Amino acid sequence: MDCLFCSIINGEIPSKKVYEDDKVYAFYDISPQAPVHFLVIPKEHIASANDLTEENAAVVAHIFAVIAKITKDLGIADGGYRVVNNCGENGQQTVKHLHFHVLGGRSMQWPPG
Ligand code: AMP
Ligand code: ZN
Repeated sequence: MDCLFCSIINGEIPSKKVYEDDKVYAFYDISPQAPVHFLVIPKEHIASANDLTEENAAVVAHIFAVIAKITKDLGIADGGYRVVNNCGENGQQTVKHLHFHVLGGRSMQWPPG
């Protein structure tokens, strides 16, 4: 399958790894929108939040547990951060492999554009 993030997971495309275990991979965004900006993705190819089901959604709970750990390790947990999932065309999703943006190190604005 031709998927950018699957290629990052299998090492065909290089990335700056933040964290990895058997279920998820986390790496710095190539175009950071905050002092700290990394992505957390399931190793299983799930195209978007629209493709989550009772059968495959447990990985999302794991992703949030991993985010809590990474943000502590990076020193942005106490100050707070934002977790973003863009889904589909209106959500401006550009890579069709489920991913959660974690943005921190500065104060965010609300609402997003
Ligand atoms: P989205 O627009 O929500 O689909 O987010 C896709 C994100 O992937 C964007 O923030 C891009 O900057 C990021 N991105 C695209 N290619 C790479 C890459 N090779 N390594 C790291 N991040 C990437
Ligand atoms: Zn993929």
